[in-house]
Amino acid sequence: MGGTFNPIHYGHLVTAEAARDAFGLDEVVFIPSGQPPHKPPREVARAEDRYLMTLLAVATNVHFDLSRVELDRGGPSYTSDTLAYFHTLDPTVDWYFISGADAILEIASWHAPEDIFRYAHLIAASRPGYSLERLTALESKLGRERMARIHQLEVPALAISSSQIRERVRQGLSIKYLVPEAVEQYIAKKGLYRDPEG
Ligand code: NAP
Repeated sequence: MGGTFNPIHYGHLVTAEAARDAFGLDEVVFIPSGQPPHKPPREVARAEDRYLMTLLAVATNVHFDLSRVELDRGGPSYTSDTLAYFHTLDPTVDWYFISGADAILEIASWHAPEDIFRYAHLIAASRPGYSLERLTALESKLGRERMARIHQLEVPALAISSSQIRERVRQGLSIKYLVPEAVEQYIAKKGLYRDPEG
């Protein structure tokens, strides 16, 4: 499961568990982006902070794991490189890349999309009511064969978003029950997201 996780919240965790159930996955590996290729660094919390919050969030689920691969690789965190890495780890595994539908909608413009489709299926998570037409419109760019490797997953808990959480912190509002308690405490301890710039 790939994401900037700025910060990780219950919407991400429920999505991972729902994907595991729906697609019969053995485990879900969370992969926080080191350097998101499409975002100015000053708009995103430090990679190590996002990594540690993700660690705190996934620690209690035996089916969840965490990877530092995008932090340790350096440079822009291209999903194609990450999936090539996981494929090399075990070429016999059927890998699925889980992320938000709005992110996957842009996949045609990502680095080396042919490698992404070579190494994994994709699971595009969306909140109920998300227009399927937006995803099906991708077929004209990707072709039918690649399109068949994109699966949609509706997740009601995705009504929660990282931007909403950052905004609530900025305004001094509670984020209790939107993020795991340990993540809430980490954000408070480190003073993350208080600055309108960050
Ligand atoms: P984003 O553009 O910030 O997010 C788009 C939407 O998807 C937001 O609503 C976001 O909600 C949601 N979302 C993101 N990750 C999710 C997840 N794991 N589960 C459920 N919803 C999720 O997306 P991003 O987080 O920066 O990127 C998503 C993934 O795509 C990352 O792994 C990133 O590295 C990859 N990506 C790769 C390339 C490339 O290779 N060139 C380019 C762009 C993105 P929240 O804000 O609440 O998370």
